[in-house]
Amino acid sequence: MSSFCNTHIRQEERKENYLIVSLFLSDLSNFYFVFILFVFDFYSTVTVNIIMKKKLKVGIFSFTGDEGCVIYFLEMLNERYKEWFELIDFKHARILKRKSIVKDIDVAFVEGAISSKKEEEKLREVRNNSKRVVAIGSCAISGNPSNQRNFFNMETKQEIDFLLKRFNMNEKVLPISEFVKVDDVVPGCPMIEENFVEVLTKYLKEFNVVK
Ligand code: SF4
Repeated sequence: MSSFCNTHIRQEERKENYLIVSLFLSDLSNFYFVFILFVFDFYSTVTVNIIMKKKLKVGIFSFTGDEGCVIYFLEMLNERYKEWFELIDFKHARILKRKSIVKDIDVAFVEGAISSKKEEEKLREVRNNSKRVVAIGSCAISGNPSNQRNFFNMETKQEIDFLLKRFNMNEKVLPISEFVKVDDVVPGCPMIEENFVEVLTKYLKEFNVVK
């Protein structure tokens, strides 16, 4: 009886040991599996980065103005879309895509002056998420001609006061440099094509998209 018991106990112990070893092996195989996945993921990411050509991540933003500069940009794009779509990743451009994001932008091109707290906040968000900010057109650079109400006489200012309050507008319309650091400007109303291409080419080179 006692011998039977001892044998039974030893069998149970061996079973337990097998279970522990099999669990260990299972962990080990999981470990190898995860490791292989990691190596595969790493090399596939590197390969994809090599195969996919680097692009300049661009955002186009409009504030107070008639959007004439952005429309002009569209005309330029129309003539160069084959070249530009190969070099530029449009992260934010309401005129080109429905889903736009304000994150991880290399160069933000900003049109229009700033006339409300809401615009101030949006502009700061753009600055915080962009490596470079370029003011395009005279509204963004100097406020003019969107800032005409700054020069109204007192009587006219009083007449429009209720509108400013209703739409939470600032007392003055100001250039974007009053709120954020501006790295470059493209003058003109609308912006001058040659100057825009010059600035864009400068950043394509700076961000190693072209030589
Ligand atoms: S600079 Fe001229 S074209 Fe550009 S948004 Fe202002 S008014 Fe329009």
